[in-house]
Amino acid sequence: MSVQILDAMARGGFEQVLALHDRESGLRGFIALHDTGCGPAFGGIRRWSYMDEQRALMDCLRLSRAMSHKCALVGLPAGGGKMVILDRDGLDLELAYRHVGRVVEQLGGSFYTGPDVGTGDRELAWVAAETKFVTSPGADGPGDLPQATCEGVFAGMAEGLRHLDGDLNWSDKTVVIQGLGGVGSRLARKLAEAGARVVGADVDPERAAAVKAAHQIEIVDPAREFEIPCDVFAPCAMGGILHDLTVKRLQARLVAGAANNILARSVHGDQLHQRGVLYIPDIALNS
Ligand code: NAD
Repeated sequence: MSVQILDAMARGGFEQVLALHDRESGLRGFIALHDTGCGPAFGGIRRWSYMDEQRALMDCLRLSRAMSHKCALVGLPAGGGKMVILDRDGLDLELAYRHVGRVVEQLGGSFYTGPDVGTGDRELAWVAAETKFVTSPGADGPGDLPQATCEGVFAGMAEGLRHLDGDLNWSDKTVVIQGLGGVGSRLARKLAEAGARVVGADVDPERAAAVKAAHQIEIVDPAREFEIPCDVFAPCAMGGILHDLTVKRLQARLVAGAANNILARSVHGDQLHQRGVLYIPDIALNS
């Protein structure tokens, strides 16, 4: 995989990409500012073990562009940005996040950051020690963001099912949730309380077991998650999970989830349509 950064930026209309390296903490990462035409770029910090830096860069670009679309959709005077940190052994987390905070401060308010996969309250507190351009992790902050996201996904999922069936009775619905983290575990609880049959999968077996015990849901091996016949497949893990192979394996009538950039490429939306699967874009559900 080889990416020409400037070509990729020109194709996607990106304003700025910063490559960060910090010798002291071992930090390696990227910040992408997609569009600040309407206001500051909003976007969280994702920390993930990427296979290589090209994939990290592409994830950063795609996530920041999706943030622009989300801001436009809800009419915020803001645009899209994102930071990704390449997680690896030896990374000093506190020093790394503090370094990120100083870089965000230097950007002077053109990038306003917050949580994402791998970045929770602990990490945000380190960032907040260095910059004011970050969501507060404490009581002054925006509250339980995964719960807010879960509510949006649940409401959108319900609308999707009503669109397909005319009415909605959760007790005869099966929902497969991919990823039982912050959003997925809350969604599992909400769906179970509504009476749906919930089947969950997580690559972290301890997490899967904990959610199973807490909310009495069924668990499947992540290798089988696409093959479970269900009404709704709810991706709540990473992006790009619907591609040439998985679209064919999917046994759902509706795809509705929180994960950003669920489709590997837009053509996979067309393939879902051809298979008669309704897809609700993630930016509409998780914004
Ligand atoms: P999280 O890190 O808390 O949870 C993600 C979970 O997915 C983890 O438990 C991980 O082990 C699991 N996972 C990873 N790959 C998997 C796979 N292939 N199969 C099954 N499980 C897998 O993240 P989160 O905060 O719950 O967010 C989930 C998704 O929703 C992310 O894509 C995030 O960008 C998006 N999102 C989250 C919010 C929010 O408020 N937290 C808002 C908007 C969008």
